[in-house]
This record gives sequence, C-alpha cells and structure tokens, in this order.
Amino acid sequence: MTEEILNKKEVRITPMRQLLLEFFLEKNKVLGLSELEKAFPKSDRVTIYRTLKTFEEKGIVHGISNGTTEMKYALCHDCQVANHSDFHPHFSCLKCEELSCLESIFIPSIDLPGGYSFEKVEMTIQGVCPKCQ
Ligand SMILES: [Zn+2]
Ligand SMILES: [Zn+2]
Ligand SMILES: [Zn+2]
Repeated sequence: MTEEILNKKEVRITPMRQLLLEFFLEKNKVLGLSELEKAFPKSDRVTIYRTLKTFEEKGIVHGISNGTTEMKYALCHDCQVANHSDFHPHFSCLKCEELSCLESIFIPSIDLPGGYSFEKVEMTIQGVCPKCQ
C-alpha cells in the first residue's frame, strides 16, 4: 500500500517514509509535528520534518497552518506531484482542538490584482465539531 503510493508519487522508498505514510493512512486525520514525534520516538525531529516536506512537495500530504505555531499535516486526495489541488477549508474545533479537512467544500479561485502571484489560500473555520456537539 505505502510502496504503491510512494512509487506513484515518484518518491524513493525509505523505511521512514513508509512508516510515516503508514501512520497517516492508519490515523486518517490531521496530525501535528509533535504528535508524530511522539509516535516515532526513535526518529529525530529533523528527519520527520524533512520527510513531511518531501511528502508535501510530492502531493502526498498538505501542510495546514491554522494560526498556531505548530504546523499540521493531512493526507491529500488526488493531488499531483508539485501541484496540490486540495483547496478546501479546515475546521478547528474550539472544544477538542482537533483540526479536520472539509474536503467537500471547495474554495473558489481568487482573482488577484495585477502584480500579485498566487501561491495558496488557507481558510480555517472555527466552531464545534460533530463529536463535541
Ligand atoms: Zn494536496
Ligand atoms: Zn471537537
Ligand atoms: Zn486538508
């Protein structure tokens, strides 16, 4: 499973990459760097961070910065190498503080004034998630 995904995304297979991807598939939710550090105590922070950066470049995960200092990551669906297509908002629960992808909502493209170039758009919605209702 992980090998197939890594091959498809043109990522060289290493044990760390396989482990990390496996963890994302298993958890199937937004994961913060500190959570990943706890899950892989034998790996140092830099290695985990670099792996995530590679995944991000290859369209395997997308980074989410929701205004907090910690960067979070979630699996991509149908993103291409070096070209993310997951323009969806993220939901931040005020009770359990979990972050989730709202993949059914599409953020429309934004017409920027001349001279500005588009990189990405981030939208975070705050409220109470279904689990905490
Ligand atoms: Zn993506
Ligand atoms: Zn919640
Ligand atoms: Zn997302």
